[in-house]
Amino acid sequence: MKGNAPEVRVRRPTPQQGLFNKPTVVNNVETLANLPFIMQRGGKAFAAIGAQIFRHQIAFIDGHFHRPGIYEADMGTPLAAVIHELGGGFRKPVKAMHIGGPLGGLVPVSKIDALTVDFDSFAREGFLLGHASIVCIPEDFPLIQYLEHLFEFTAHESCGKCFPCRLGSTRGFEMLHKARTGDYKVDRTLMDDLLETLEIGSLCALGGGLPLPVKNALKYFENELSPYFQK
Ligand code: SF4
Repeated sequence: MKGNAPEVRVRRPTPQQGLFNKPTVVNNVETLANLPFIMQRGGKAFAAIGAQIFRHQIAFIDGHFHRPGIYEADMGTPLAAVIHELGGGFRKPVKAMHIGGPLGGLVPVSKIDALTVDFDSFAREGFLLGHASIVCIPEDFPLIQYLEHLFEFTAHESCGKCFPCRLGSTRGFEMLHKARTGDYKVDRTLMDDLLETLEIGSLCALGGGLPLPVKNALKYFENELSPYFQK
C-alpha cells in the first residue's frame, strides 16, 4: 500500500506506527471478544477478573500431563495449581517445561513454585509467558537434542531477510548437531556471541526470540550440557 518492497522492516518505535506512519492500534480476536463484556458491565468489573485486566488461556499441548487439553485460568494463578489441579500433574518425571511457544522460556521444574501465570512473574524470573502453552521435557530426553531442534525449527521458519536469523540459526543447528552426534565440542564463547547477535540483530521475534530458551537451558542445566561445550 505504501509502494515499498514487501519486506520485513525494523518496527520502531513502539507504540506502533501504522500505515503512512500514522498512530495505530493492534487488536486481536481476544481484545475484540472482550468488548461486549466491558460495554455491558463496565471496566471495573472487567479489571476485577484475575490479577491483570484479562484472562488467559492455558494450553497443555502434550501428553505428559494426566489431563492434557486447553484450560482457562485467571491471570495470577500459581503455576503449580495449573500443573497439578488443572493438568492433573505429570504422568512421568519431567525436568523442564517449555512455556509460551517455541520461543518462550525453558522453565526448570525447580522454578514452578516461584511462578504465577502472569507476564510480570515470568519476566521477573527470566522467562516468557507468551501464549502460555506448556510442552514438557521428560527427564530422559537429552536437552542438547531439544536445543538442536529449536535451532532447526528457527532455520526452517526463517524468512531469510536478516543475516543473524538466516545464517545464525543454521550455524547453531550445525554446531549442536555435530556436538550431539560426534566428538565435536561447541565453543561456548562462540555460542554466546551467536545468541547475542540473534537477540540484538534480528528484525523480528523469530530470530530475536530463539536465544531465551537456549540461555535458560545453559543456565539451569549446565551439568547436563557441559560435556557438549568447551570454554
Ligand atoms: S528474524 Fe528471521 S524471520 Fe524475522 S525477519 Fe529476520 S530472517 Fe526473517
